[in-house]
Amino acid sequence: MSLKEKVIVITGASSGIGEATAKLLLKKGANVVIGARRKERLRQIADLSKDHVAYQVTDVTNLNSVNSLVKMAVDRFGKVDAIYNNAGIMPLSLLSENHHEEWQEMLNVNIMGVLNGISAVLPIMHKQGFGHILATDSVAGHQTISTAAVYSGTKYAVRAIMNGLRIEENKNCIKTSIISPGAVLTELYRSQSDEVSARRLQNMWKGENKTLSADDVAQAVIYALDAPERVNINEIVVRPLAES
Ligand code: NDP
Repeated sequence: MSLKEKVIVITGASSGIGEATAKLLLKKGANVVIGARRKERLRQIADLSKDHVAYQVTDVTNLNSVNSLVKMAVDRFGKVDAIYNNAGIMPLSLLSENHHEEWQEMLNVNIMGVLNGISAVLPIMHKQGFGHILATDSVAGHQTISTAAVYSGTKYAVRAIMNGLRIEENKNCIKTSIISPGAVLTELYRSQSDEVSARRLQNMWKGENKTLSADDVAQAVIYALDAPERVNINEIVVRPLAES
């Protein structure tokens, strides 16, 4: 099946990697169903190609909200070939700072958001007899650094969950892929709780070869989505050249 025939649901599509992936898929003629909390940003993407985009304000921490996004895909386009569980936040801090509410929010968005996406599509994909579930993991899902313990923990968890999904669902012809980028220049710095750490992160990401563009990552997603039927791309790790 070519990308032109596919229907792909994307969460966290209002900016960064999700937005770039939605736009690249549209260029390739696919149908995309996009969700995030910022309606105006989604509408701007939908304006690019009304026939091939549906959008809905979605909070991935809320299962009803994700179910409703997936239902819209089926109502509008008749099926769901893939869901890309991409929404995520990264408020960094030392464990000793005890930002308990941020830890909880990261677990809710980064882990429960992925599980809610899986929960919403699995019954549909079982009925269809095919499907592809993707998630944005991270290099932080393989190693951690100071201030990133909880964020890394959520990304390790996503890797474990997606591995389990592969083991359980390959017999049902459901593919699983995680995309694990290093630093990507996006709006992710917005999830810092204070201005100083947001600016520190933005500065860290400045400089030649220090970050990937969201488009670089979108290309990796498309590679996984467009692989032949028999090929299951389980993980793509993609780092900027200057990242060790
Ligand atoms: P952005 O901040 O640009 O994108 C994050 C997206 O997630 C936005 O569309 C945001 O939309 C959405 N989002 C956040 N919370 C929710 C929620 N509760 N419900 C629905 N959508 C939500 O950053 P990136 O593009 O960088 O992030 C995308 C993914 O990539 C994340 O999972 C991140 O962890 C991962 N990643 C990023 C890296 C980087 O260096 N940038 C490196 C490795 C992985 P809205 O606010 O409108 O809801």
